[in-house]
Amino acid sequence: MNKSPNFPCEGGCVCGAVRYRLLEDPLELHVCHCSNCQAVSGSAFVMCMPVHTRSLEILKGEPKLFSFTSPDGLAKRNRRCADCGSCVWGEITPEIFALQAGTLDDTSWLKPIAHIFVSRAQPWVEIPSDAVVYETEPEDNLELVRAWKSRDV
Ligand SMILES: [Zn+2]
Ligand SMILES: [Zn+2]
Repeated sequence: MNKSPNFPCEGGCVCGAVRYRLLEDPLELHVCHCSNCQAVSGSAFVMCMPVHTRSLEILKGEPKLFSFTSPDGLAKRNRRCADCGSCVWGEITPEIFALQAGTLDDTSWLKPIAHIFVSRAQPWVEIPSDAVVYETEPEDNLELVRAWKSRDV
């Protein structure tokens, strides 16, 4: 596995109008295969990296807030570049944002610790045998935080 980077590390949207800096190791990194993530990304899954908001600095631009209610009734708040529309993060709580890990400049070290909502995964997606797998989602998100902390790097 690739080594974690030295923090801070940086990332941004595809057009470069929004740039951010991540100051410390994220809380965890997982892949979500749920229908909402497939629809919102237009892809098969989302790489979701929860971070403390205090560890995230905006260097450039002002990501635009998109708020909506998901089909299952959850209030969602996503930040996207106003120019290119890249989703840079979702606001889970005022303290925790879910960085879209694919927006990091260096993604070579990313290895998701868990796959959630595998019951909704595209049938051709192969889940790595060493990943923690949930049919839906963990009862307690701390399970993922603990798994990330104890991973081999
Ligand atoms: Zn952009
Ligand atoms: Zn999802």
